[in-house]
Amino acid sequence: MIEIDSGKPVEVMDITPSVQEALRESKVINGICLVYTLHTTTGLTVNEADPALIKDILNLLERVAPQGAGYLHDRSDGNAHAHLRAALLGSSVVIPVEQKRLVLGTWQRILFFELDGPRRRKIYIKAVPD
Ligand code: ZN
Repeated sequence: MIEIDSGKPVEVMDITPSVQEALRESKVINGICLVYTLHTTTGLTVNEADPALIKDILNLLERVAPQGAGYLHDRSDGNAHAHLRAALLGSSVVIPVEQKRLVLGTWQRILFFELDGPRRRKIYIKAVPD
């Protein structure tokens, strides 16, 4: 389990080093690694950690699911846009593991999206051997 304190309403964090560290502490040498967020207003994806691209992704999410666009969930909670953006991103990623290393392409990073912060967030990591 990784715990993260986000500092802003919307924030993207490259959690690749934390996942690799958790993997190092596990007994799994070869297999797969599940990275799973325990929240409904956060997202996980694998992509490039280029700040300009991250801004592009956030802009896309904002266009597709703008805040306060008459959502039913806003009647009770006021954060429907964050849930919708999280639904678009997904709540988990699975990455192959070889020799205790995450198998990632040159530009691939594990990106955690805070969409309704700031809050303390928990990310569950489960390594499964071959
Ligand atoms: Zn809500």
